[in-house]
Amino acid sequence: MGEQTQARRVPADQGRRREFAVQVVRGLRDAGHQALWAGGCVRDLLIGLTPSDYDVATDAPPERVMQIFRRTVPVGVSFGVVKVIGPRGAGEVEVATFRSDGAYIDGRRPESVVFSSPEEDASRRDFTINGMFFDPISEAIIDYVGGKEDLDRGLLRAIGDPAARFKEDKLRLVRAVRFAARFGLRIEPETEAALRAMAPEITVVAAERIAQELRRMLVHPSRSAAMRVLMDFGLAAVIVPELLCLVGVPAGVAARPDRDRWEQTLAVIDALPHDPSFGLALAGLFCEVGRGATGSDPVEALDRAADRLKFANVERDAARWLVSHHAALVEPKSLPVARLKRLLAEPGIAELLALHRAAAEAADLPIGHVSFCEQYLRDEPDGPIRPVPLIDGNDLKAMGLRPGPAFKQWLDRSYDAQLEGKVANQGEAIAWLRRQIEADGSGSASI
Ligand code: ATP
Ligand code: MG
Repeated sequence: MGEQTQARRVPADQGRRREFAVQVVRGLRDAGHQALWAGGCVRDLLIGLTPSDYDVATDAPPERVMQIFRRTVPVGVSFGVVKVIGPRGAGEVEVATFRSDGAYIDGRRPESVVFSSPEEDASRRDFTINGMFFDPISEAIIDYVGGKEDLDRGLLRAIGDPAARFKEDKLRLVRAVRFAARFGLRIEPETEAALRAMAPEITVVAAERIAQELRRMLVHPSRSAAMRVLMDFGLAAVIVPELLCLVGVPAGVAARPDRDRWEQTLAVIDALPHDPSFGLALAGLFCEVGRGATGSDPVEALDRAADRLKFANVERDAARWLVSHHAALVEPKSLPVARLKRLLAEPGIAELLALHRAAAEAADLPIGHVSFCEQYLRDEPDGPIRPVPLIDGNDLKAMGLRPGPAFKQWLDRSYDAQLEGKVANQGEAIAWLRRQIEADGSGSASI
C-alpha cells in the first residue's frame, strides 16, 4: 500500500500531533519569542485526557508567525490567530498572540483586541481551568488564575468577576454548563449565582452557536448532567422551552413512582449508547413529550426547537423519524409481518432500537422486544426483510393500469403481499394483484 493511501486512511496520529505542537513552540523560541501551550489542551493534559487539538500562545504578532513557519493560514489576523499546518498526520496548531480583549459590543465579541502579556491573555479567558499555560519543553505549568487548584478541587470558576464575564460574552453561560458536566465539576457559588441571574440573556447568542453547544453536550456521555444543570439554572427555559412541560408531571413508571417525566427523560438519555448521534440524543430528549399529561405533540415540539435553533436538516429528519416511531416496536410480535419488515428495513433502525432499549432500561422494563427485533434482523425468519420487489411500475402498465394516484398504492400493497409471503414470484404477484383489483371495484378506476 502506498504511503499516501495509508496517510489518508489513518487520521492524524496523536503522537505526531503532540510532537508537532512541541516543534511549533521550539520554532517560535528559536526565533526569539515566548511560546506556550494554552487553554483547553493544558486542562486536558492535567486531567489525563488526550487533547483534541493544541493551541499555542506567543508574543509574536501574526505577521511574524507567518514568516517563521512555511505553511500557515491566517484564520483571524485581527485577533492574532494563525493556523500552522503540520506535516502529514500531525494536524495543525493554532498560534495566537497574547492579547487582552477590548470592550464587548454585542454580548458576544470584543470590539478590538490589544496584543499583550501572558498574564493578560490568561485573564481574558473564560474559566480558570481553561486559563492555564504549559511549557512543553520544561514541562512546567504556568497558572496565573488558579486553574490547577480549581481542577484539583473539582470546581468550575469564571476568571475574574463572573457577572462581568458572562455579561461580556453570553455564550459562556452555556459553555460553563458544558465544561462542568463534561469534567464532572461543581460550579463555584459566585459563578453559579451569576449564571442563574444571567440565564435569560442567552437569547442574544446566535442560534447556531447555542445549537453547537447543545450538540456537544448531548453527544457526550455526560449528557444528562449537562441537561440537568441547563434545566436547574433556567437555561433550558430559554433554549428548549418545549421541555418544560416534562417537569413535575409524574412519569408513571411503576418501578420509580417518585420520578417526573423530566427525570425520566434524563434516565433515558443516560441509557443511550456511549456516543449517540445528535439526532438520537435529541430523540431521547423529546420522547417523553406528549406522554401522559404533558400536553404537546413531541414531533411538533421537536420541529419548533429545530426551527428556532437551526439544526441541520439531516439531524432534524433523523430525530423526527425516531421521535415519531419511538414506541413503534414495543410489541413487535403483534405487528403485521409487512409492517415489521418495513420498519426493520429503515435506515435508522439501529438507532430506533437503541432508543427503545434506552427507554426500557430507564423504566426498569424488560428488553425482550429489542432482542426480538435484533434477532429478526439477523435471522429473517419470514424471509428477506428488504427483497427486490417482484413487480414494478412497468408491470402495472403492462397489466393495463395507467399511472395515477392509485399506482403507488398498488405497488405498496403488492410489496406487502410479497413481504408477508403471500406471493413468491412475479406470476403470483400479478395474479394476486388482478384479484385484488377486481375485488376492489372502485380501485379499478385507473385501469
Ligand atoms: P474543547 O475541548 O471543547 O475545544 P477548549 O477549551 O479547547 O475545549 P475552545 O472553544 O476550543 O475550547 O477554546 C480554546 C480556549 O480559548 C479555551 O480553553 C479558552 O481559554 C478560550 N476561549 C474559548 N472561548 C472563549 C470564550 N467564549 N470566552 C473566553 N475564552 C474563551
Ligand atoms: Mg478546543
